Formats: sequence, C-alpha cells, structure tokens
Amino acid sequence: MNLFDRAKNLAKRTQLRNGIETGSIGCALVTESGKVYIGVSLNAKCGIGFCAEQAAISQMLVNQEFVIRQIVAVSDDGHIISPCGKCRELMYQLSEKNMDTEVILHNKTVRLRELLPSPWM
Ligand SMILES: [Zn+2]
Repeated sequence: MNLFDRAKNLAKRTQLRNGIETGSIGCALVTESGKVYIGVSLNAKCGIGFCAEQAAISQMLVNQEFVIRQIVAVSDDGHIISPCGKCRELMYQLSEKNMDTEVILHNKTVRLRELLPSPWM
C-alpha cells in the first residue's frame, strides 16, 4: 500500500462531542530508515488540536527517528492537503535534512525547501 492510500484509509472523520472531531485528515510518512508512521488530526476548541502530520511525527519521535523521506496528508474526502506552516517549520526544526523531504501535493511532489524557502536557523 502506498503512502497516499495509507493516509486516505486513516482519514475517517469522527465526531467526539460538542464539535470536537478527529480523523478529518490522515497522514503517512516514511523515514530515511524506510519505516512508515501514521497519524490523524484532532480538531478541538481553542486551538488545542493538532495536525495529522504532527501526530505521525510524534510516532516517529517515539522511535528516535528524525529524518522524513516522504510525507502526505489526505482529507476524509480523498483530497491531498498541503502541510500548514507550523508543520513545515516542525519538519525543518527536527533536522536540516528534512529540507529534502518529498512532500506529496495534489498534482506534484516537491521538496520541503520549495515550501519553506528561507530558513531562519
Ligand atoms: Zn499542520
């Protein structure tokens, strides 16, 4: 199963309570070691949720991995979602090598450096 399918299969929107939902976005990434990590989003009130990318990255960190070879996020209606600015910055701050991460977008794959062209540290 490819990364897109892994992410798409995760994206199952589930209402928890009072507008809190999880799974509207699924993410799958593969690290330089070849391991695949997955995560889903959490949309909570007051901005305390997290992106699917952050959830997948946290699983990667549990395994002491920091370099992402390729990443994709997919919504529950099957559309590829570009990583938000916070997730782009997070990948960069984990490892400078992640500037070469392949980010799968709707109609092309780009390197993170193309989405985050002016690193500040
Ligand atoms: Zn994000």
